[in-house]
Amino acid sequence: GSRQLLQRSHAAPVPAAAVSRSNGHVNGHAQGATVKNRGPGEASTSGQDQGMAVELDNVVFGYRPGRPVLKGVSLKVEPGQSCAIVGSSGSGKSTLLRLLVRLYDAQSGSIQLDGIDVRELQQSSLRQAVAVVPQDTVLFADTILRNIRYGRPDASFEEIERAAEMAQLKRVVDGMPDGYNTIVGERGLKLSGGEKQRVAIARAFLRGPRLLICDEATSALDTATERSIMTSLEELAQGRTSVFVAHRLSTVQRCDKIVVMADGLVVEQGTHEELMRAGQVYYDMWEAQAAAEEFHEQCVPEQLEA
Ligand code: ATP
Repeated sequence: GSRQLLQRSHAAPVPAAAVSRSNGHVNGHAQGATVKNRGPGEASTSGQDQGMAVELDNVVFGYRPGRPVLKGVSLKVEPGQSCAIVGSSGSGKSTLLRLLVRLYDAQSGSIQLDGIDVRELQQSSLRQAVAVVPQDTVLFADTILRNIRYGRPDASFEEIERAAEMAQLKRVVDGMPDGYNTIVGERGLKLSGGEKQRVAIARAFLRGPRLLICDEATSALDTATERSIMTSLEELAQGRTSVFVAHRLSTVQRCDKIVVMADGLVVEQGTHEELMRAGQVYYDMWEAQAAAEEFHEQCVPEQLEA
């Protein structure tokens, strides 16, 4: 398979210790250390590549001068960990994800992937090692096959089929008039929000990224769709580092780490149990959401949900 490198953009020597650590062990490679890129759904066999280390240190960022959106965010995700970012609307969750993939750069502080400042990484290297499942997936006016293959242009049909299966898209494709050759997007078959997100997940499976970034859709998906998407994502996140922005707390309980943001700052972090025990912001969010769900259940008849 193809190989993934995190490479600096300049020919500066890369200290071996700064590249491709996993579980605290430095991989046995010197400069230009490589980490094998797994195929779709292929488990990590070496136990060496558990994903990328992510570290934000006092990150400050605003879209406009004098209007900081992130006001000094620090957080650390260990290789292979899953991290959920939760918090009120406008607290800066999606902005944080945008900085991770360098759609924007921090105004101060630093973001490091595998110990390397993102500003020093080659864009191509970053793009190869990281896959994003966005809130709203863009489909091209092309076949569903090519839309999935966009994740990795050299993927074989078998690999695409496998990725579609992992993303629970197989049934959807089987139901399309021309199967994999069905034109989707603007002038073709319209896909629902949940289906589009599954295309993004299939693309990510094909990529086999070391870091998975997912911005959960804010638009309401029905409970069954949401659950099946979460299952696919959890499977995809196995053996990789993952960072999710989550709007529904029910989807974050099993994450290794939950980071709670409020007004551009991290106000709490820990596991679900730890944060519930702490009885602070996360606990209050949980209580509020549970109350809202109970209200919803009482008001919306079951048949509307199905
Ligand atoms: P939500 O849960 O509603 O998705 P969020 O926590 O992800 O919210 P962000 O989308 O990161 O929040 O937005 C944080 C702040 O930055 C908001 O005040 C928002 O209006 C502002 N903002 C977001 N994107 C832009 C942009 N492209 N240009 C200017 N301001 C922006």
